[in-house]
Amino acid sequence: MFGMDARNLGIDLGTANTLVFVKGKGIVVREPSVVAMETKTNQIIAIGNEAKNMIGRTPGNIVTVCPMKDGVIADYETTAMMMNHFIKKTKKPSILSNKQYVMVCIPSGVTTIERRAVINAAKQAGARDAFLIEEAFAAAIGSGLPVWEPTGSMVVDIGAGTTEVAVISLGGIVISHSIRVAGNEMDQSIISYIRKKYNLIIGERTAESIKMEIGAVGDIEGIASMEIRGRDQLTGLPKIIEIQAKDVRNALSDTVYSIIESVKNTLENTPPELAADIMDSGIILTGGGALLGNLDKVISEETQIHALIANDPLDCVAIGIGTALENIHLFKTKAK
Ligand code: ADP
Ligand code: MG
Repeated sequence: MFGMDARNLGIDLGTANTLVFVKGKGIVVREPSVVAMETKTNQIIAIGNEAKNMIGRTPGNIVTVCPMKDGVIADYETTAMMMNHFIKKTKKPSILSNKQYVMVCIPSGVTTIERRAVINAAKQAGARDAFLIEEAFAAAIGSGLPVWEPTGSMVVDIGAGTTEVAVISLGGIVISHSIRVAGNEMDQSIISYIRKKYNLIIGERTAESIKMEIGAVGDIEGIASMEIRGRDQLTGLPKIIEIQAKDVRNALSDTVYSIIESVKNTLENTPPELAADIMDSGIILTGGGALLGNLDKVISEETQIHALIANDPLDCVAIGIGTALENIHLFKTKAK
């Protein structure tokens, strides 16, 4: 399968971001999973960063599509085209004809049809063949957990579409739990909270930037606030208001509660020896959602187990896939 000299690729095909890892080079593509298309002809206008900047700003003849939803392919053709574009970006034109093997991650608990769709989309995107790796397992490798050892490690990957909680030991996932509650849901909660409390309508990009700038949960220190722009629901006119970090905390409480429940639920179902290991090693948080202010503290308090954010949480899955590519001999049975 994975030839020794082939330049194998690892792809973290995320709901919000796609990362491409080139064996021997590291992460070479890191772009939003967004495609902008002409509505009548389906012709692609922009992919990645450029397309994300168009969200909420398109005229009638252009539409922005996020082809991944909740960690799985929602729009097959667009996903394949997007992958093709990102794969091409990693190559010098001279080796364009040289087809590569790719390893792509998938959330745990996806159906056979959803797995097939990822493999076929990768092939349609130009891969010679595609192999799958579970996202939580890749996240655990990428955050430096001792996944091959006979010890329990817990990883919580909070992406845009899903939160994946998994306990890993001896090179495999012992137990995992995936919920379709993560960053996107946080953005939607902020949108509806601000509409209800301030009669202000804001877009998804604004909601996400509020979350990144002043989003925090639990005990909020200081008095972070932010000026935001939207449309007044009553007058229909543009308006600027100031919101407080407390607003965002209130808006996010349900979402964060779901994430914490998922972690607790997984801990309750973890075999006792592994649970004991996790009490020592802690809970590792990965994915962009791990950066939400104070989330690590709140998870620590609620579970009574130390939770810590991985280094480069947005890169962990891609690094994990890359590490897997470089140690493919350990995977013979896994990479099917
Ligand atoms: P995916 O793997 O699903 O594509 P990522 O791991 O790339 O997701 O994380 C993207 C999510 O993380 C988005 O919902 C984004 O808004 C969120 N995010 C990124 N940075 C922050 C931050 N500083 N605070 C809170 N959420 C963040
Ligand atoms: Mg992810």
